[in-house]
Amino acid sequence: MINFSLSEEQKALRGLARQFAQNEIAPLAAECDREAEHPIAIIEKAHGLGLMNMTVPERYGGAGLGMMETCLITEELAAACAGIGTAIVANTLALTPLLLAGTVEQLERYVKPLCAGPNLAALCMTEPLAGSDVGAIRTSARREGNHYVINGTKTLIDNGGVAQLYSLFASTGLEKGARGISAFMVPADLTGVSVGKQEDKMGQRAINTSEVIFEDVLVPVENRLGEEGQGFNIFLESLNRNKPWIAAASVGVARAALEAAIQYAQERVQFGQPIASFQAIQFMLADMAIKIEGARLLTWQAAWRVDQELRHSYQSAIGKCYASDIAMEVAIDALQVFGGYGYIKEYPVEKYMRDAKAFQIYVGTNQIQRHIIAQHLLS
Ligand SMILES: Cc1cc2nc3c(=O)[nH]c(=O)nc-3n(C[C@H](O)[C@H](O)[C@H](O)COP(=O)(O)OP(=O)(O)OC[C@H]3O[C@@H](n4cnc5c(N)ncnc54)[C@H](O)[C@@H]3O)c2cc1C
Repeated sequence: MINFSLSEEQKALRGLARQFAQNEIAPLAAECDREAEHPIAIIEKAHGLGLMNMTVPERYGGAGLGMMETCLITEELAAACAGIGTAIVANTLALTPLLLAGTVEQLERYVKPLCAGPNLAALCMTEPLAGSDVGAIRTSARREGNHYVINGTKTLIDNGGVAQLYSLFASTGLEKGARGISAFMVPADLTGVSVGKQEDKMGQRAINTSEVIFEDVLVPVENRLGEEGQGFNIFLESLNRNKPWIAAASVGVARAALEAAIQYAQERVQFGQPIASFQAIQFMLADMAIKIEGARLLTWQAAWRVDQELRHSYQSAIGKCYASDIAMEVAIDALQVFGGYGYIKEYPVEKYMRDAKAFQIYVGTNQIQRHIIAQHLLS
């Protein structure tokens, strides 16, 4: 019933991702973080190797992989740099609304050309006044003949400004709240789409995060995904299906932090011996390993349920919440193992802490994940 071994294909994919991450991402991670530099050259290489658009079926130009494989790849990319890794994998989230609700014609027209090159997509839901409470969005889509006229501002959008295609959630019935939300595909080059403030983030600085502004944007009716009012459910299911790879990215950061701490503890000598010989340090390392192993199993369980088309919102919330919480804890403990040097930018661990923090916030904060989990328990 239970099998913890990976298939030969999964091992090969993980090996490919690990090699790519260590050879191509790791050497540029510090610079991209310092300069908040969009890693276009790395994205081009990742696309060439088939490490993008992982869950998009091959007939639409994707890798045709499951969520389990996506998690294996993402852990490796994020272990090298969470910002660059997220920039590479974000298409998987942004294209999910299309895969869930798009017609064959819509997929042929938008997903196929996007996946043909190292192009990016972004998912636009959050607004300045609507974060956790997505039912409060004010971006409106007013129907006029064969078009919708879209007006509003989206904020904190990963790959904002560098994406060619936006999965946009806008209201076609403001008075209906969440039930008035509809989903649209909006090419970034449509008249009236512009990029607003570029966010100066504390972590995951290699991925562009910005405001995206929609001013009287004319979007053809055939760009709507599903029916009017189905946007909220499309959004929720898109998040549920993608939380496992956010969890895997968190595990990747935590693993990298532990590896750095182990190496440092064996090299750093105090009181005439490596600090790794002190039980206080050993127990910190052991606790970090316990958390990482547990988080990875929860992540894989959630990914497996997504791939099996079993109900997964509960396990996805648990995996994302636990893995991102332990990534933060492990990164803080790794920094402690480095002592004063952990606090200095010259060493890698403070970046792990800054990077890990974002995972506790996006695709629903961990308070919202706990709310979802509690609802399951009490329903
Ligand atoms: C790096 C980064 C990348 C992002 N990328 C994207 C993206 O690509 N696309 C996109 O649409 N959005 C994106 N976001 C936005 C993200 O999804 C929101 O920040 C998140 O949903 C929280 O919304 P908020 O920031 O408005 O916080 P708020 O909703 O204002 O919450 C503030 C605090 O209150 C808590 N809170 C709110 N409601 C409740 C409640 N009911 N019960 C308990 N606690 C509650 C929250 O947990 C949080 O601690 C990104 C955010 C970050 C930081």
